[in-house]
Amino acid sequence: RPRLARRLDGLPAPATMEMARKARALRAEGHNVISLALGEPDFPTPPYAIEAAHAAALAGDTKYPPVDGKPALKAAIARKFERENGLNFAPDELMVCNGGKQVIFDAFMATIDPGDEVVVPAPYWVSYPLIARMFGGVPVHPECDEADGFSLRPERLAAVMSPKTKWLVLNFPNNPSGALCTEEDLRGIAAVLRRYPDVWILSDEIYEHLVFDNHSFRSFAAVAPDLKDRVLTMNGVAKAYAMTGWRVGYAGGPRELIAAMRVVQGNATSGVCTVAQAAAAAALDGPADMIREMVATYARRRLLVVKALRAIPGMTCAMPSGAFYAYPGVASYLGKTTRNGQLLRTDIDFAMALLEQAYVATVPGSAFGLSPYLRLSCATSDAVLKEACERIAEFTATLH
Ligand code: PLP
Repeated sequence: RPRLARRLDGLPAPATMEMARKARALRAEGHNVISLALGEPDFPTPPYAIEAAHAAALAGDTKYPPVDGKPALKAAIARKFERENGLNFAPDELMVCNGGKQVIFDAFMATIDPGDEVVVPAPYWVSYPLIARMFGGVPVHPECDEADGFSLRPERLAAVMSPKTKWLVLNFPNNPSGALCTEEDLRGIAAVLRRYPDVWILSDEIYEHLVFDNHSFRSFAAVAPDLKDRVLTMNGVAKAYAMTGWRVGYAGGPRELIAAMRVVQGNATSGVCTVAQAAAAAALDGPADMIREMVATYARRRLLVVKALRAIPGMTCAMPSGAFYAYPGVASYLGKTTRNGQLLRTDIDFAMALLEQAYVATVPGSAFGLSPYLRLSCATSDAVLKEACERIAEFTATLH
């Protein structure tokens, strides 16, 4: 029988997808399932972005694009980086990809040799280590503790850096914890990186606009401008503009790395759908009021969820500074038994039992490398979030 490639051996399917699949199956059986498993904004794409796509298609913008992005979108991206992050990029330092995910894929394929270590602080978005492993990279996970607000402490980073380190991945605001890294920690991280001149840095800033209270976001390349020649700053329109399905992400970084990513992408996809690029350019240049409205909504929902979870005996929940997730701790329930006699050993057991018995889909912290926690997406209505928290409270009350 024909064989599959060894590079996929042992590579698990992302747990987020797995929970969503189980939730769909239970729903198909007729159960009233609430899914807080997927990180997808519940807002519509702004109409002006859709109109720009329509106009582009009618105007004949329907031919193969340049591999690294259309000049008009690159110009909008350059304006965005300058306006919002204080970063300046020339067109050949910018790259447009099929979602932020392809930025990571291109960059890792272009740089990782088997055995190279990729430092991904935990908790992390599942795709970084999975993509790194496809190219023989070895993920290394320093932990960001709840007690530190899930920020990356520089000494934790220093403890795992080695001559084999090829990449450090930074993702703040963080999926799944919602944490921001303090500026002091970012400066400390930069100080560690100065001792390792051969390490690339991926700063995934896709949640930069979703920041609450009096917190403010700073781009890593702006905090440490002397490292700019090895920082790849990644972003996209999926989360900020509710455009997950359009598949447009982008990055600014050193010319040499961007050129290598262009080689990868030219052979993989020949670039990004032209009309999606037109929509993304319109979104980036568009009014900021939609983002403000989304941030206010997510901030309100986050308070609702955190308050409800903290009221449940035994549950802990740090206040997320950004993104649209809550990451409650479930340590106090491990070792307990559900009403059907199932022992909860791990957060995976907890999440599965919660789905099967209370019909609330979440993702266990194990999927993000830091246990025992659950990730709840707050990108759904207040009423649904309230109902979900009530079900979680009832579920925990039945444990003994
Ligand atoms: N980075 C993080 C941290 C994410 O959570 C996601 C999506 O869930 C992405 C990147 C991917 O974004 P895109 O849809 O642009 O590929």
